[in-house]
Amino acid sequence: MKRINELTSIGFQIDQFNQSAYGKVAGYHYLLSYYKQNKRLVLSTSVSLTEEYHLALMNLPLTYIDQLTYQKPILQMVIQNINKVNPQQIEQMLQMVSTFLSHWQVKEICQYCQQEKNVHICHMQGNIALVCDDCLQQYQASVPSLPKVKFGRGLIGLILGAIVGMAAWVAFYQTGYITVLGGFLMSFLAIKGYEKFAGRLDLRGLILAIIVSVIMLAVAEMLCLDLEIIKALDVDFERALDLLPRFLEESEIQEAVAQDLAFGYIFMLIGSFSMYYQAYHQVKRQGVYEKKMD
Ligand SMILES: [Zn+2]
Repeated sequence: MKRINELTSIGFQIDQFNQSAYGKVAGYHYLLSYYKQNKRLVLSTSVSLTEEYHLALMNLPLTYIDQLTYQKPILQMVIQNINKVNPQQIEQMLQMVSTFLSHWQVKEICQYCQQEKNVHICHMQGNIALVCDDCLQQYQASVPSLPKVKFGRGLIGLILGAIVGMAAWVAFYQTGYITVLGGFLMSFLAIKGYEKFAGRLDLRGLILAIIVSVIMLAVAEMLCLDLEIIKALDVDFERALDLLPRFLEESEIQEAVAQDLAFGYIFMLIGSFSMYYQAYHQVKRQGVYEKKMD
């Protein structure tokens, strides 16, 4: 197995951002966390186990499990190298553990209150945990609720931001440079515009800001070309706009435009990638909710 996504083949659901998978095997919930740096896969569940059962579990022939520990309430199993196992082997291991647990009537308990209750896989502001309804509600009440996103206003803010970004791009172009800063400004202003006007950033706003930035960069390039025509032929803006399609038929200009755009998009990516990543992180950590399992 190379990627955690492969666990969908045994009916697990994937939380891409946390590099985790979660699901149920023979009546018990399992959370699988993948640690990329050392290729480790950590399998865990939340149960009430006596010392005796813990020892008995360690004696099960769990071929692919390198390490098994229990510290109330977390039963944790480590697979040192994810490449050495396939999803079916993992399922087989979990099946064996579940069979053992249910045979000895070991109950799942809530990770927070450690009481014997029905537990659910929950998203707690970015972390995944096995929690009961009461603890989930309590936690939800303890964190300030998210302000509602005003999408329409956010869209206006986004477009305004992108227009200012476009102006900045055109200004930079006049100095003869296409810069990382220009690409960054375009996407930064689009995101900030949305955030300011909508009240907060959500995933929808982030994706739209990226799309609009990409489109606006091409529009900015056309504007720059238009300005070139004005300068070269000494015509007004509208006339230059009329002439633009004819200029674009020239292969030399096509090449120059393609090059500008290629650099523009590369610079935009360099300038904005970490911001996109952080914004995505921020959006994904918002909220507390149950992860639905079907
Ligand atoms: Zn609880």
